Amino acid sequence: MRLVVLGGGESGVGTAILGKKKGYDVFVSDFGKIKDNYREVLSINGIKWEDEKHTEELILNADVVMKSPGIPDKAPIVKKLVEKGISVISEIEFAIQFTKAMTIGITGSNGKTTTTLLTYHLLKQGGLNVGLGGNIGKSFAWQVAEDKHDVYVLELSSFQLDGIINYKPHIAIITNLSPDHLDRYNYDYNLYIASKFRITMNQDENDYLIVDYDDVEITKWLQNNTTKANVIPFSILKELENGGSIKEENLNNYINNELFTMPINELALEGKHNIKNAMAATAVAQLMKIRKQTIRESLSNFQGAEHRLEKVLKIQGVQYINDSKATNVNATFFALDSMTTPTVWIVGGVDKGNDYDELMSLVREKVKGIVCLGIDNQKLFNTFENVVDVMVETTSMTEAVKIAEKIAEKGDTVLLSPCCASFDLFENYEDRGRQFKNAVHNL
Ligand code: ADP
Repeated sequence: MRLVVLGGGESGVGTAILGKKKGYDVFVSDFGKIKDNYREVLSINGIKWEDEKHTEELILNADVVMKSPGIPDKAPIVKKLVEKGISVISEIEFAIQFTKAMTIGITGSNGKTTTTLLTYHLLKQGGLNVGLGGNIGKSFAWQVAEDKHDVYVLELSSFQLDGIINYKPHIAIITNLSPDHLDRYNYDYNLYIASKFRITMNQDENDYLIVDYDDVEITKWLQNNTTKANVIPFSILKELENGGSIKEENLNNYINNELFTMPINELALEGKHNIKNAMAATAVAQLMKIRKQTIRESLSNFQGAEHRLEKVLKIQGVQYINDSKATNVNATFFALDSMTTPTVWIVGGVDKGNDYDELMSLVREKVKGIVCLGIDNQKLFNTFENVVDVMVETTSMTEAVKIAEKIAEKGDTVLLSPCCASFDLFENYEDRGRQFKNAVHNL
């Protein structure tokens, strides 16, 4: 069997190693440059590869093709493969056939990484032999090749889900839905939603689907479609008999007639969105029979993920928070919502068609000054110029932080929550977040 792997990154190299171990004739092809460390791994393992080109004769003879999530369906080589009727699948679909491990699949527009890390933390603290994969850390396929774990918590993007045929998670989570990556879905939001719900398409009566009941698109989908999985809802707006909700300042999770309860103010992560993430992760821990005491301790000692409402430093009574990962309105909405003191907001970058009006009432209520950090800030000015006392623009992170420091007074917060992608001024959101933290440390 000939396995062709498109893309020589983490996902691709992991798949190639697994394929080789299972006796496939493996070939890796990347249209860009493969990083040195991955080249080395491929060569050491005797796997043939090419980069900066796709040689059709070596690709179109595949029995099966694993396409890395970054490669769009529109790519000419993918179109040719599909025309020839060759099966093009994702890493998860390829790897799952070689493991008996149970998987927990987590998708959604925002909160995937946080919920995945939190779920992993709960299960690990509960003593399970659990791995972390999907879009985080070492690729799932690579770990399957090493036969490492009994359970995996997988962060699954819509692109990973587009390439599944038979894969089903025993427990699935859809954190929430808001428009994202629409350029890959013909600018059709419904196609993107359908892609997220592929996570449940192969699930059966023994499986679980954990979803946000406050999300209009999720509840609409559930009304108009069917899933065989047991649906476990969570909500911070309604009190639910089954599932997760808030009762008298407590997180209350009724799962299979078992109640887990804990004061919200003991959760390590702040913000309403993180109560939702905690409800979803806790539901998994309950289904996996982790002791309540362990869940409680783990929820209160969890160290959040970098660049997600990450507290950086307090300087002269001003708290600096890095939320560089907020690349859309929904994420920034929850960031602003969780602010408890007057806020100087650093915002801007490449806007993906944002409707800033959704933030208007929060900005009126909480924001005292805005520092626009981006090349084109016109839309932000049009929306907020008359709403806040001070509004300034800059294209330098160092300057943005210095301006914010000047506006902020003792007791205030300076929040970087850009609401936008980072590609105008930074390499990626991590680079933006790191530059913010450096600038704060240099104050
Ligand atoms: P993803 O992996 O889906 O991008 P992250 O956990 O990395 O999600 O969080 C992305 C951004 O969204 C961060 O700014 C974070 O604070 C915010 N966020 C986290 N959880 C949620 C949620 N449940 N709803 C809305 N925003 C969220």
